[in-house]
Order: sequence, then structure tokens, then C-alpha cells
Amino acid sequence: MRVAVLGAGVIGVTTAFELASGGADVVVIDRQPGAGLEASFANGGQISANHATPWATPSAPLKALKWLGRVDAPLLLHLRWDPPLFAWLARFLANCTAARLAINVERALRVALYSRRRIAAVRAETGIAYDHLGRGILHLYRSRRDYDEALAGVDLMNRLGCTRTVVDADGCVAIEPALAPVRPQLIGGIYSPDDESGDAHRFTVQLAELAAARGARFRFGVTARHLLAGGGRISAVDTDHGTIAADAFVVALGSYTPRLLAPLGLALPIYPGKGYSVTLPIRPSDGSAGDGAPTVSLIDDEHKMVYSRLGMRLRVAGTAEFIGYDTAVNPARARFLLDTAMRLFPHGGDAAAAEFWAGLRPSTPDGVPVIGRTRYSNLFLNSGHGTLGWTMACGSARVVADLVLGRTPEIDLAGLGLERFG
Ligand SMILES: Cc1cc2nc3c(=O)[nH]c(=O)nc-3n(C[C@H](O)[C@H](O)[C@H](O)COP(=O)(O)OP(=O)(O)OC[C@H]3O[C@@H](n4cnc5c(N)ncnc54)[C@H](O)[C@@H]3O)c2cc1C
Repeated sequence: MRVAVLGAGVIGVTTAFELASGGADVVVIDRQPGAGLEASFANGGQISANHATPWATPSAPLKALKWLGRVDAPLLLHLRWDPPLFAWLARFLANCTAARLAINVERALRVALYSRRRIAAVRAETGIAYDHLGRGILHLYRSRRDYDEALAGVDLMNRLGCTRTVVDADGCVAIEPALAPVRPQLIGGIYSPDDESGDAHRFTVQLAELAAARGARFRFGVTARHLLAGGGRISAVDTDHGTIAADAFVVALGSYTPRLLAPLGLALPIYPGKGYSVTLPIRPSDGSAGDGAPTVSLIDDEHKMVYSRLGMRLRVAGTAEFIGYDTAVNPARARFLLDTAMRLFPHGGDAAAAEFWAGLRPSTPDGVPVIGRTRYSNLFLNSGHGTLGWTMACGSARVVADLVLGRTPEIDLAGLGLERFG
């Protein structure tokens, strides 16, 4: 069976790997010169299954209003004439209820927890190295109100299969000693010992090589323009380098998926949620063997920022901006990220050598990816993973490969597909 995978981000490459491992004849196309060069390039590095909560929560609209107009706001809305954004926001607001949150958390966790099992299996099978650290994720709180709101969700998430432990401020420092200087600012934390971190780009590049070794062909520098449909099927993808025919097609174009599907009458509510990261080389401050960077991956709730140690680099990521497909690095936003990180970990890395990056999270209004079939019998979707694409990649890939290859997926797919948007 010949399968065309469109997109070589972490989602497309993991899908190609699973398909090639299952015996399919795979061709992957991507407009970039290599794998993982867009949203999957310099993300926060967290495999955060135990923190797979959507942006849409009952308190989100009020928080977003308070942040309006602040250049250092974790979430920034550029209000301008943008009908896809308005439609997305309307759906987002409809998901900001306790009842919807419970449904969406269960759906996201179903994929994320399965995905953590799958990445462990891929690691064990292939020995892939990507600066992986399995020291857990600690979510830090400085606001009593936000902490109490988070604590209310701990039982629900533990019932759904998470391992989340509530710790006080001293407990946070015991887990991550590099937090000792900011101990007085902390209210407490939620620790998930079995979460992980690692470099998504390194993983993607190496997994592409492993997929190629299993027969997948990667055609870089090729842009998909249209899908050619007829008789309820897709026959080929038209590209700037000619047409590519296949028996099945998987669309994994991240934030750009809706553009390719719209002419087929498939409306995907995926909007680009721009985010930033800063990467600092970790250098011991005094020439000794030690350094001041954390070794446990962290989420700083107040600033909605994450910290991951990737080998001898510290990756700091955060902020969400709704500004269409713009990927320019806004110096004020990037600087805010760096300054906040340096306040938390003054000896965490070499700020003078910081590298800034911005990417687009393919965000759905309910925080759940769009995985599965479409009304075209041989067209499959694997998109819309938002803030959790690295966390959910290996599980989503396996599920989609199972569907394409006619196998039964290991998790229930109810509520994960395009049909949920009506
Ligand atoms: C700042 C930031 C921090 C993040 N932190 C985390 C984190 O800590 N943990 C986590 O789990 N997730 C995180 N994410 C989210 C995660 O990075 C994304 O969900 C994930 O990378 C999406 O992968 P993708 O393959 O769907 O998209 P992409 O990586 O964008 O891949 C899509 C590919 O499609 C290609 N493409 C697009 N259009 C075309 C076309 N017409 N023709 C050919 N090719 C095309 C692109 O070149 C690209 O390679 C973060 C994201 C950001 C921006």
C-alpha cells in the first residue's frame, strides 16, 4: 500500500515511521529542506501527559481580558478583522465551561497517556537519543487562587490515569534544588514524576532517518498545493514538483492543514497559536562542575512558561499570541521570556548566547487534536495538537497508522475526530 504523508514535523514523521514499520510504502513531502523545521523545531521539550489540560477553562476568558494590551501577557490577542479567528474564539468560549473541560481533559489525556507509552516503546526499540530526561515535571504556583483551582482538578486527572502529587513550597525545592533562592515566592506545586522532556527536533530528525531506513522516502522542498478528489476518494496530491499519487493520504501540516482541506469542503477549526522559546547554553557560572539550571522540567504557572534541560542547553518556552500566520520574533516578547527565566535561574545559562525562536502551535478550540478519518475514504487527519504536539505525537501516529493499515487502534477514538465540530 502506498501512503503519502503530508508534513514532516514531529506528527508527520512519527506517522511515517509507524506506517513504514507496518509495511507501507511511504512517501513524505514537506516544503522545508529537512524534518521538524517549523512548530516542532524549538518547542518547550515537555512530554507532559500529566499536564494535558486545554487552554479553554472556566477562568480563561477573565484572565485573557486582564492580559489585554500587556506586552508581557502570557496570552495576546491582536484584535483585527480576522473571521477565522473570530469563529475560533466563539468555539473556544463555548468550551470554557466546567462540563466541557471535563470532556476535553479526558479526550486529551486518552491520547497523551497512550502517547507516553508509545514513545517509551519507540525508544526501547530503536535506542533513539534526543536529550531525553525522565525526572518528571513540576508545575509551580505563586498565586493561591490559581493553585486552589489546580488542586480541584488533581483528583479528576488522577482518576483518569495521571500520577500527580501535591507538594508545598519546601517540597518544590526538595524536588528541584535550583529553586531554593525563590522559595519565598512559591505557594506550592503539582509534581508528576513520570512525565519527561527531550528535544523534539532531534527526535524528529533521527526518527525520519529510522523511517527512511525502513523504506520511507522523504521529499523535502516540495509544497502541497491541492488534493485531487473524485468518487469520494483522493487520487493524488498536486505539488509544485508535480503530482504524487497514492492509495492513502495523511495530512499532518500543523497550522496549515485547514488551508489544504478547505477546497474539499472540510472545515478544520485549527488556528495558529504563536509561541516563543529561548535556548541558552548551560555553562557553570564559576568554572566548577555545577550549574544553576534545573534538572527537573518545570511549568511556571504565573507566566505560563516551561523550562526543560536539553543536554547542556536550557530551553525556556511560553506565551500565546493570536496574530495569524506571522512567525517573526517580537523582540519585546522574546526579551520578556529571557528576563523572566534569568530572574528565576540567574545562573541557569549564558544569556548573552541566547537563541530566540517563534513557532505556530496548531491550536483547536477544545485543546484536543483532530485524529482520524474524513468523509473521503482514503484521507486521514493527524493535526491540531496545539500545545501538546510533542507529548501526543507517538500515540497519534500509531493510531492513524493503525487506521490506514486496517488495524484496530489501541485507544477509543470517540471524540477525537473532525466529526465533533459538526
Ligand atoms: C513555543 C512553543 C512551545 C511548545 N512546547 C511544547 C511542549 O513543551 N510540549 C509539547 O508537547 N508541545 C509543545 N509545543 C507544541 C508542539 O511543538 C506542536 O504541537 C507540534 O510541533 C506540532 O507538530 P506538527 O507536526 O503538527 O506541525 P509542524 O511541526 O509545524 O509540521 C508541519 C509541517 O508541514 C509542513 N508544511 C506546511 N504546509 C505545507 C505545504 N503546503 N506543503 C508541504 N509542507 C507543508 C511544514 O513545513 C512543517 O514541517 C510547543 C509549541 C510552541 C510553538
